[in-house]
Amino acid sequence: MDQYRVFGNPIAQSKSPFIHQHFAQQTEQVINYQSELVEAGSFVDAVKNLIANHGRGANVTAPFKEEAFALCDHLSLRAKLAGAVNTLVFTDQGIYGDTTDGLGLVNDLRRHQVGLKNSRILLLGAGGAAKGVVQALLEQQPLSLTIANRTVSKALQIVKQYENMPINACSFEEANNQSFDIIINATSVGLSGNSLPISDELLMQAMTCYDMVYGKTPTLFLQKAKQLGVRNVIDGLGMLVGQAAESFNIWRNVMPNVTPVLNKLRMELK
Ligand code: NDP
Repeated sequence: MDQYRVFGNPIAQSKSPFIHQHFAQQTEQVINYQSELVEAGSFVDAVKNLIANHGRGANVTAPFKEEAFALCDHLSLRAKLAGAVNTLVFTDQGIYGDTTDGLGLVNDLRRHQVGLKNSRILLLGAGGAAKGVVQALLEQQPLSLTIANRTVSKALQIVKQYENMPINACSFEEANNQSFDIIINATSVGLSGNSLPISDELLMQAMTCYDMVYGKTPTLFLQKAKQLGVRNVIDGLGMLVGQAAESFNIWRNVMPNVTPVLNKLRMELK
């Protein structure tokens, strides 16, 4: 049977096996998808072992996305721009790497009828998650994409990669003095109880607040947005299922339906 894995550390919390098993049932594909805990320094061995044992592909999560990128023989353009890979495909020509987080996010926003064209987008954070979605967001032709990060130099580094695009970087403080239609939290400040240094005024002007983080209860960012009357308040569960659907399509050449799996997962979370 064709084997797939999600590699990460930690990995016990991963919803990917649940998601992909449901996709396989739905599309009548016979696959085995499991999570695998990988110790630091063992990522390459884990991939080689999978390839030697009927492995057809893998998902990669923290902290191995950059290591996966370095291991690939071929990369999609979006993976090159992100500098990270979340989807591996084992082919006769070697290992192909792609990143599907951006599509997962954009498709989830579409599902919620959030228009990206000509919008002013604020992306909070400049880590792996932010890097992975910039290209997909720019493809939707927003009026502007502003990346605000605690360490501004990291946001500036991302901006440098996209010449002649409507993208800029700033501090949280500077972002507070502007207004945006869509605010996306791609920092790891999620369920930890910490709050982001963004003002109520900034949130109130937005039509949509999206948090890549998801959990049983909304993050403080989303709770605050809701209290302040933001129209669309969305967590990252749909992005998670959406990026998985794109990986599944890359591997099996069939696009699963996201909605039933998302509904099941939402019930499970509650
Ligand atoms: P990284 O560790 O690469 O980046 C963390 C980011 O958060 C950096 O921009 C960092 O800023 C910022 N940050 C951390 N602590 C603070 C703080 N106290 N105040 C302000 N900014 C802070 O993480 P990732 O980018 O990989 O992941 C970010 C989040 O996105 C995670 O929670 C992850 O679970 C989620 N995610 C969700 C996905 C989904 O499918 N829903 C997909 C991918 C990720 P600085 O640079 O200054 O350190």
